[in-house]
Amino acid sequence: MAKAVGIDLGTTNCVVAVLEGGRPVVIANAEGMRATPSVLAFKEKKPLIGQIAKRQATLNPERTIYSLKRFIGRRYREVTEEIKTVPYSVVSGQNETVRFEIDDKLYSPEELSAMLLRKLIDDASSYLGEAVHDVVISVPAYFNDSQRRGTMDAARIAGLNVLRIINEPTAAALAYGLPRKTTETILVFDLGGGTLDVSVLDVSDDVFEVRATAGDTQLGGCNFDKEVAEWLTVEFEKRHGINLRHDKQALQRLTEAAEKAIIELSTVLETQIYLPFICTDAAGPKHLEVVLKRAQLNELTAHLLKSCRDSLEAALAEAKITPDDVDQVLFVGGSTRILAVQELVQKIIGKRKINRGVNPDEAVALGAAIQAGILTGELKELILLDITPFSLELETEGGLISKVIEQNTAIPTRKTRLFSTTEDNRSAVDLHILQGDPKLAKENRRVRQFRLDEIVRTHPGHALVELTFEIDANGLFNVSAKDNKTGKEHPLIISDSVNMD
Ligand code: ADP
Ligand code: MG
Repeated sequence: MAKAVGIDLGTTNCVVAVLEGGRPVVIANAEGMRATPSVLAFKEKKPLIGQIAKRQATLNPERTIYSLKRFIGRRYREVTEEIKTVPYSVVSGQNETVRFEIDDKLYSPEELSAMLLRKLIDDASSYLGEAVHDVVISVPAYFNDSQRRGTMDAARIAGLNVLRIINEPTAAALAYGLPRKTTETILVFDLGGGTLDVSVLDVSDDVFEVRATAGDTQLGGCNFDKEVAEWLTVEFEKRHGINLRHDKQALQRLTEAAEKAIIELSTVLETQIYLPFICTDAAGPKHLEVVLKRAQLNELTAHLLKSCRDSLEAALAEAKITPDDVDQVLFVGGSTRILAVQELVQKIIGKRKINRGVNPDEAVALGAAIQAGILTGELKELILLDITPFSLELETEGGLISKVIEQNTAIPTRKTRLFSTTEDNRSAVDLHILQGDPKLAKENRRVRQFRLDEIVRTHPGHALVELTFEIDANGLFNVSAKDNKTGKEHPLIISDSVNMD
């Protein structure tokens, strides 16, 4: 069988890995780097992808797309906060989809992700000396159905065959835990550029069972960057009386400088931030020059650390365990190198339990490559028991909601429900499937709408239709309907979805 690769399709960076001699290794890209920035830019005819796109971002902010993963599979109204924070133009397409507007052309998140995937795969193919077609792609455990479908669609557009969508913490645990003798409870704390995932897994010899996941799809290193960039604009305004907030190019430079400063503060106590010619006024060019101390960084980002703590505690509560029950902690994601983040986790769980054996930047891709190896038969079978982080609820006309699949149910799973009409002589019924945290408002949870056609006309109160709800191993859900008496399948028409047909 041809080689299958594992892809960590990150918000900020992508990493590709493959099995070589039964062990996963990272594949360097055409530029010789182990990670490819998830950035695309439109400048000349051909789009720029990766490092080359990232490098020209300052000079071309309106045509440089990053943080694609924050938009994939989401509705326009769900991303209004993100839109305010990016310099490029995001508009609403048909059916509330998200579109990027670049030089009067509209691009979907799936389309741009596909271009990124294509580069990753082309580089991997030339490294391996054979065309790669089969892939395992990781997504945050907290990704809902339409975000997962969006990722699959991107791979499809790129001409790839997705063997499996794997949850990032599961992949990280796979990279770390081959094989174990005793059952251990592992806490995976993944803070990347744009998302936080905290998961609790039980790892034994062959079984990886995700017991709970919590997190924040809107929290990552870039939020830390933004706080520092905002602080820089305040400092600059204090000194020079100039507000840089409306200068896109200056903002981009401030954000990059902020990221660099935060990375430096992971090893030193203070760092100098120097941005010459940040702007010009009547008196001439202005330069930004400030010192940022680690203690100051911690103060500026205290609320973000608090959110990290909340997600960590939520994951423990969800798994119904105390910090004492955790055997090991895995740090995943570049932002777990921020010392205050590490200290926070250490303080709650205990210092001795931190496992340093996994490279936080590469664990997810390595685990995805292991999963690819299992699916192609190169590695021996492991039982991967994952769970759905969302509940699945059915809302019928009149706003009646009933829970079909509980949060944290092991997947794949399948449940059936008998469904009856409440009115006489109906020929169609609309069903809303809600996926999400039951604590959220209803409108934030609605994912898909189905129309059940050609319902047999009969008396009210009768159980007429058997609905089958399924969540597969990729975390995707499907609904089918059949007549309870005749066993005949009912057509279900999907409407109101942001995903591709
Ligand atoms: P993603 O999973 O979102 O693609 P990564 O795991 O690659 O992200 O993490 C990228 C983030 O990690 C960036 O925000 C980057 O600034 C941050 N980062 C990388 N190295 C360090 C470091 N040494 N100290 C602090 N933050 C870091
Ligand atoms: Mg990541």
